[in-house]
Amino acid sequence: MEQSLNPTLGRLLALCRMDRGWVRGQGVWLFDRDGRRFLDCYAQYGAVMLGHNAPCVKDAVRAALDEDEPAMVQPFRARHAEELANALCGLAPGNLSRCVFASTGAEAVEAALKLVRARTGRPLILSATGSFHGKTLAALALTGQPHHGEGFGPLPRGFEHVEFGDADALEKRLRADAHKIAAFFLEPIQGERGVHLPPPGYLRRVRELCSRYGVALVLDEIQTGLGRTGKLFACEHDDVAPDVMVLGKGLGGGLFPLSACLASAEMWDEGFALRHSSTFANNNVACRVGLAVLEHLISGGVCADVARKGERLNARLAELAGRHPRTIDAVRGRGLMSAIEFRPLAERGALLSLLAHQGLYAYAVAGTIAELASVLVLPTLGETSVLRIAPALTIGDRELDAAIEGIESVIELLDRNPTQTIVRALGALDGSKVACAAVATKPHVITPRVRSDTPRPDFAFIVHYTSIEDVLATDPDLIGLSPHQLTRFCDFAYTAGPGVLMRTPAIRSATGATAHGLILALPLLPREMARQGRRRVSQQIAQLVDLGARLGARVVGLGGYTTPYSRRGCEVVGRGPAITTGNPLTAGMACLATRRLLDREGRAIEDTRVAVIGAAGSVGGLCARLMAREHPRSLLLIGNPARGVEHLARLGGEVEREFGARVEAAADFGQLANCDVVITATAAGCPVLDRVPLATGTIICDVARPPDTSAQLRARHDLRVIEGGRVALPDTTMRFGVGNLQNLPDGVTLACLAETILLALEGDFRNSGIGDDVPLSDVDRALALAARHGFKLASLNTHSKPAADESVATLSMA
Ligand code: PLP
Repeated sequence: MEQSLNPTLGRLLALCRMDRGWVRGQGVWLFDRDGRRFLDCYAQYGAVMLGHNAPCVKDAVRAALDEDEPAMVQPFRARHAEELANALCGLAPGNLSRCVFASTGAEAVEAALKLVRARTGRPLILSATGSFHGKTLAALALTGQPHHGEGFGPLPRGFEHVEFGDADALEKRLRADAHKIAAFFLEPIQGERGVHLPPPGYLRRVRELCSRYGVALVLDEIQTGLGRTGKLFACEHDDVAPDVMVLGKGLGGGLFPLSACLASAEMWDEGFALRHSSTFANNNVACRVGLAVLEHLISGGVCADVARKGERLNARLAELAGRHPRTIDAVRGRGLMSAIEFRPLAERGALLSLLAHQGLYAYAVAGTIAELASVLVLPTLGETSVLRIAPALTIGDRELDAAIEGIESVIELLDRNPTQTIVRALGALDGSKVACAAVATKPHVITPRVRSDTPRPDFAFIVHYTSIEDVLATDPDLIGLSPHQLTRFCDFAYTAGPGVLMRTPAIRSATGATAHGLILALPLLPREMARQGRRRVSQQIAQLVDLGARLGARVVGLGGYTTPYSRRGCEVVGRGPAITTGNPLTAGMACLATRRLLDREGRAIEDTRVAVIGAAGSVGGLCARLMAREHPRSLLLIGNPARGVEHLARLGGEVEREFGARVEAAADFGQLANCDVVITATAAGCPVLDRVPLATGTIICDVARPPDTSAQLRARHDLRVIEGGRVALPDTTMRFGVGNLQNLPDGVTLACLAETILLALEGDFRNSGIGDDVPLSDVDRALALAARHGFKLASLNTHSKPAADESVATLSMA
């Protein structure tokens, strides 16, 4: 049965084997149903600060319950809430002397926002780029990572962001508008962005600037406070005191939601004080726990101990990063608040790239570390792949060493073979319970976060696995797996997608125009597409078209079988972006390649008997008409025997009338032995010509993907087999990910992708090659665009660079 509790998240967690359930928590250990124990190094995002069920927390709760202490008595006096407020103000730096309690961090941030606006009467709030302050609407507006707020707008007005770590930028903003600015909100270390520390001296300058311009400094120590960084408050490292401070997370001892907003007497406001309230504030039992937490933090030398353990942790992480530069981009941290940032993954294979674009890579690594090393770490919420390491402050030296060693051992495996390490650990290859459960449910299309520094895509192109060879070409880490394991791998990839597979490099035209694109994946093999059926596959293609549109693409190309499954594009036109099947350029390039080879061999087209196999298909039909236009000696059209010859006969009649060619239609391969040229474009998905009699010297142009020709046939010396539908890009080093999609050489791509790129470069957002009756004018337009933008026919021997004669000037077929 599907879970009611956020099943969408549940599906993703299952995929990354993060859907474990815990039956017991003790200190830094969590125990699952099978009694397996895991070292908890994320501590519920830092909230389980003293470990699970810490004795001092349990004692405080027990005492409260034994005494029948009333927990909720607002607005009457709550003894322990008063005591905790006094204790916090007493410990906080500077002259903070007023306090209100709340439940969550975001709620404390909201209180601080209301307070500074009420106190100053100023509308504007500044915060830092990259910051994170919570997920209520105002906290999202304050947060300097726009992706968190996307889709929830409009967000409240009156928020602006200045560059984190750049005190000059802050000064410039304050100098211009201080009289309108109520406060500057700042995290001393940006935790959720991925544990980023500001440059030395920044905090002090910020303090000095806020004082000079009369603007309140609000420090958000929800993550950094209460000992996490090795001091009770992170601002104490710089000897800085705020006007307002917000705290949360560990204050409730890992048991209660408890947060606080502290303010100086100068920042206190009566209007705020009388009108701000919250039902669950001032909970006596929660505050009693808060007092126990504070007592523990200040009496046992915890902060000094955290500082010492943090130095050890961060030094070892730095060593680890030094040993594994291929996998780790950076490590950062202070105290027990650390992070490992992973390298971008485009060059490590398709699956990891797909996971990374869905925001799942760091989760998959966390799932792998949990499975292989029994250590729990979690990603931060920022834009890149970062794992946080933030155990309970009470973690012992031996446990900390064990955690680091566990993480190290997995990083070593990831360095050697990341894809296999991850898919094996997540149970994807043996079809273990977890992965199967994930596969059983229908995947959702995730709209990936768009980094502010990435250019908007002009086009999107949908690919799928046309054969197992594609899987191995795009993920060479999988070489050596059994066919059964590869099938399981495909199931897993399908569940991770469909979605963005990669962003293309900028593609430059000979005209100087540039296009950026997205490759979208429907990670299915043809047989899985057949199993799912046309309707379901077509729906997913439509979802991917919509995804491309949401991300900005103005034209979407259909690769491989996504063309037939969308009824040659008919089912996905009109959704916003222009659609191209790429069939016009595919057919145009195939016929051009054929003509080129005939010319090279000195054979005249007028003497040539041409056959087109798969002539009832869109590419085949176009090839038939294109070849007819060249006036061959005869044209033989061969279609799927299951469908008879009537429709072919009709096409033949049309072609005869239009081009005056001699055309014959057939449902079998018997007459191929009399042909000089065979263009083959079936959707059979397997070789079809192996047992067919073919005359010596026959030119075979194979346009089908997967190919209609077998490797043996292609190796035959009595035949000339070329691959149709290949295009040489203007940049001969250009490639689209590992394996360049179908193991194509650098600088060469599929004509259907090339046509999509050409439409984007030209800014021509009309549909192309849609439906059954594609006009030859679409082919001529595609070939003309290719010539204009410097796209050439790929060399007939596709393993070498395009020959000089396969150039722009001779592209016209007419
Ligand atoms: N501020 C900071 C710095 C945080 O790290 C967080 C949570 O991670 C919040 C605010 C929001 O806290 P909560 O999730 O309890 O609302």
